[in-house]
Amino acid sequence: MAVRFFNTLTQQVEDFSTQDGKTVRMYTCGPTVYHYVHIGNLRTFTFQDLLRRWLRYRGYTLNHVMNITDVEDKIIRNAMQQGKTLGEYTEVYEKAFLEDIDKLRLERPERLVRATEHIQEMLDAIAKLKQDGYTYVSDGSVYYRIAQFPNYGKLARLDFSGMKSGARVDVDEYDKDDARDFVLWKQRKEGEPYWDSEFGAGRPGWHIECSVMAMKYLGETLDIHAGGIDLTFPHHENEIAQSEAITHKTFSRFWLHAEHLMVEGQKMSKSLGNFYTLRDLMDQGWQPDVIRYLLTSAHYRTKLNFTMDGLRSHASSLERLRNFKLRLDSEKFPEGTNAQLMERTATALRDFELAMDDDLNTAGALAAIFEFIRDANSAMDGGQFPAGNREPAQALLAAFDSIFDILRPVEREGGLSDEAIDALVNERIAAKKAKNFARSDEIRNLLLQQGVILEDTREGTRWKRK
Ligand code: AMP
Ligand code: ZN
Repeated sequence: MAVRFFNTLTQQVEDFSTQDGKTVRMYTCGPTVYHYVHIGNLRTFTFQDLLRRWLRYRGYTLNHVMNITDVEDKIIRNAMQQGKTLGEYTEVYEKAFLEDIDKLRLERPERLVRATEHIQEMLDAIAKLKQDGYTYVSDGSVYYRIAQFPNYGKLARLDFSGMKSGARVDVDEYDKDDARDFVLWKQRKEGEPYWDSEFGAGRPGWHIECSVMAMKYLGETLDIHAGGIDLTFPHHENEIAQSEAITHKTFSRFWLHAEHLMVEGQKMSKSLGNFYTLRDLMDQGWQPDVIRYLLTSAHYRTKLNFTMDGLRSHASSLERLRNFKLRLDSEKFPEGTNAQLMERTATALRDFELAMDDDLNTAGALAAIFEFIRDANSAMDGGQFPAGNREPAQALLAAFDSIFDILRPVEREGGLSDEAIDALVNERIAAKKAKNFARSDEIRNLLLQQGVILEDTREGTRWKRK
């Protein structure tokens, strides 16, 4: 069964394939590094991480490029206010972005590329568009004439009949649903950073960087282009207009868009001020694995409402998952194999895979795992879970965790490593044997202070992190 994705371009769920049968040429729009990213942005990046992992699970190799937008209106404004160069201003937020995605266990793309390092390629692309009649100059800036591109609007499926001919826009953020000629090269403004070029001193508009960097590293036709739903129009529509005007080829075969993270019915966004950064939540004591779990739990094409209650319930459900793993790994089971339970495990794996194949239905995939856990727990309670069933169940959890990556607790900074904990646990066992109860109690308390809980069971001592 093939992996299937909802393609924004066709508005249909389609079987996925790649051009060469193996490597996925994937481009995703990365962050604008003018501030810390918020967890709404991180929802979209987490979706891209799941996408990467599922494609790899299904045998594909990834060639994934993500851009870093490091020249843009807000960046310029803030850098100028602080008397910094663009690079000085953006490096702080780029570094913070990388730290945040590491904390959330998001895999790094094969290539992360900065807009400011591709200015010449952008100028070459604009020159080509000019040569083919897609541009005009107004007030010293170069614009893309969308009336020249008959397919304009094919991604967003908007009706442009009421469009004002020649209406143009030169800011990086503008009204949705309003088609305008967009700027490719902006004339320099007094005091702003600029590059010299055949179009005069200036700097690129926002859209051209993605067309140029995607095609430079991935070729003229991508397999997947992804981003948040708000990028569909105008950003992705403009990327298509630029790229396809240059190549006369399909720019991307699949377009995948993640829905928004919401707060009280509104999109989480910096401009509305209703946002949390990962740092805000961690300062309140939330661990990034709980946040990752929350962000992965809903299907990427549904809106996800962010609440503290949601975080709390995900924290306890994550605890259930981990308790089950601990039980599965450490409990002593009766000898033998239960064929029915074997079948149950295989069904759970199949349901998990079918759900993920079905446009990354993470909610369905989680349901398959939780239903299995419920059945396995009650089999264990009734002494009906034989030792021969342990390994297949562990393999199921490993498959699940190769995608969700939440079962491993966060290593506390400066905290104890697993090895150090094991060593202390062994020392405590030896101390108890030697009837040195003062030392054994001391070790229990010491571990507790580090957030490690010991449980003495008939089978011996096991531990878990709080
Ligand atoms: P930006 O840095 O603003 O270009 O945004 C980076 C990514 O986050 C883009 O793919 C946006 O579509 C996405 N994004 C912005 N706000 C949200 C939100 N509330 N929920 C999910 N994704 C978002
Ligand atoms: Zn882009």
